[in-house]
Amino acid sequence: MYPADRRDDWHSGQGRWADVPAADWNDWHWQLRNRITTLAQLETMLELTKEEREGCLFAAHKLALAITPHFFNLIDPKDPNCPVRRQVVPRIEESYVAAGESSDPVGEEGTMPVPGIVHRYPDRVLFLVTDRCAAYCRYCTRSRLVSNAQSYDFHPEMEQGLQYIAAHPEIRDVLLSGGDPLLLSDAKLDALLGRLRAIPHVEFIRLGSRIPVFLPQRITPELADIFRKHGPVWMSIHTNHPKEVTRELAAACERLSLAGVPLGNQSVLLAGINDDAEVMKSLVHRLLMMRVRPYYLYACDLIEGSTHFRAPIQKGIDIIRALRGHTTGYAVPQLIIDTPGGGGKVPINPEYVQAVHDGIVELRNFEDRMYVYPSGTQMPEPKPELRS
Ligand SMILES: *Cc1c(COP(=O)(O)O)cnc(C)c1O
Repeated sequence: MYPADRRDDWHSGQGRWADVPAADWNDWHWQLRNRITTLAQLETMLELTKEEREGCLFAAHKLALAITPHFFNLIDPKDPNCPVRRQVVPRIEESYVAAGESSDPVGEEGTMPVPGIVHRYPDRVLFLVTDRCAAYCRYCTRSRLVSNAQSYDFHPEMEQGLQYIAAHPEIRDVLLSGGDPLLLSDAKLDALLGRLRAIPHVEFIRLGSRIPVFLPQRITPELADIFRKHGPVWMSIHTNHPKEVTRELAAACERLSLAGVPLGNQSVLLAGINDDAEVMKSLVHRLLMMRVRPYYLYACDLIEGSTHFRAPIQKGIDIIRALRGHTTGYAVPQLIIDTPGGGGKVPINPEYVQAVHDGIVELRNFEDRMYVYPSGTQMPEPKPELRS
């Protein structure tokens, strides 16, 4: 299905917006102004199914519809099961709430000392700095507050957040998220990163952003310079499928890398989208070609209306087994379940350790062969002739 992961095959260009002047197309403000945000617009561009049409009407009460022109070009207009389309075009299944699903599936509200700061782990915080994104992922774990469709009324409290971080010397790592932090203006980001940098115990800053994927035009030389100035700044991007790897994304990643921003990728395991070893292998290979290290592969959180997105965890384990040893170690992400109720991230691994007993560990390798490693061997006596 994905024969050659060659850059020449990666999508690029203006696609259905071929008539737009290049200066407009390459301007991130133009991309934002020309997002597809209504059912009426979508109707003219895609052959919508009944489920999608109803989903678009429901979206106003759950999570806004928005798709950038750049990302829209990656959608197959004829295939409702297109892996790009399913991530951003609403479906009525979003209104079906299964047992166990909730609006705060990983229990963030319980660990928010001030609005916008999630302090779950001892030495680091998640800092939600905006409730807006360039486009909206239909499985968003923060649907409750992002896009404000549910009237959550989230106002990022930048000042309160900064004061909390400054007052807690145990915080050495600040992760900016939201919403998408790269929707802030250059001036705001510059000021925010500068303020964080000035806090002596903050060792480094990272951002979680899907903007390089949705809106690569945002990664301007000026933005890259801001990261260079305030580094070390790390970034996690969010791709789920090889179709999202475009030449524009590659150019954005290159600009970030050359500004000294180490890049990781977080994927969400999504039924029918990327719950397949061949799809994931193609994705992670393309990521390495862009100097992006696959970081986490998350099981889809139990957000309300996500049943149609969730794949059995066994599929994730099978994907990791199909990658480990079969391809570059750098290409293998860590499979994670972020536990419902606020327990945090738990790593899930295939069972390579078959048993530990009698001073040995029995190991299964990537080809399913068994090996034994002596573990906890006693120090042997030195040879008598070597005794002094
Ligand atoms: C995911 C997450 C982090 C970062 O976790 P790492 O494993 O260090 O990448 C920090 N805080 C919260 C609340 C998170 O959900």
